Amino acid sequence: MNLMQKTKTKTKTEKDDQLTNKLLTSVKEMVQTCMQCGTCTASCPNAFAMDYTPRYLWRLVLMEKTDEIFHSKTFTLCSSCYYCTLRCPRGLELTDAMALLKQIAARQKLPQYKQSSLFYKNFMESVRRHGRVREMEFMTLYFITMKNPLVPLRFIPLGMKLMSKGKVSLGNPLKRSGALNAVFKKVEELEAGS
Ligand code: SF4
Ligand code: SF4
Repeated sequence: MNLMQKTKTKTKTEKDDQLTNKLLTSVKEMVQTCMQCGTCTASCPNAFAMDYTPRYLWRLVLMEKTDEIFHSKTFTLCSSCYYCTLRCPRGLELTDAMALLKQIAARQKLPQYKQSSLFYKNFMESVRRHGRVREMEFMTLYFITMKNPLVPLRFIPLGMKLMSKGKVSLGNPLKRSGALNAVFKKVEELEAGS
């Protein structure tokens, strides 16, 4: 790698770090007035599967325990149901805060989030192409990008079950239409400018 390439890489890394810090500060501001009442945890349908409860995660955010936050899978298990947001007595935008943590993990390309980041990326790619997710295409792209032959094997029983109930279309999985290209392009421009 020549000096110019090294400088470019460094500049990009610095820019990424700055953006990550900015986003983390935003998450902290979003939960600044949390009073640790635990209503979010009690309301969360996925809390049973999380390593840290939502309430505890917000505590870690306020204490700036970055390593602990990004070793947790709590935010990746958030399904954006908005129960916690609706029920928080402080009116905090908790679902958006979870989404920001997901965004940071994806930007940082942290290995422990590779699976969920690729799942999300390929889901959105399918939506971009067709205006809705096409299951066969989505899973095909996901398996290709995971580069692990054991991953598809885990999904065989579920795939068979869904196909037997006619829940999965067998149409050309990679047919491209670009239905939402313009919308996605605009969002990318907005994110790049943030
Ligand atoms: S419900 Fe709101 S105030 Fe209560 S612990 Fe959760 S974030 Fe904090
Ligand atoms: S939005 Fe996420 S964190 Fe909040 S209750 Fe739903 S799944 Fe849990």
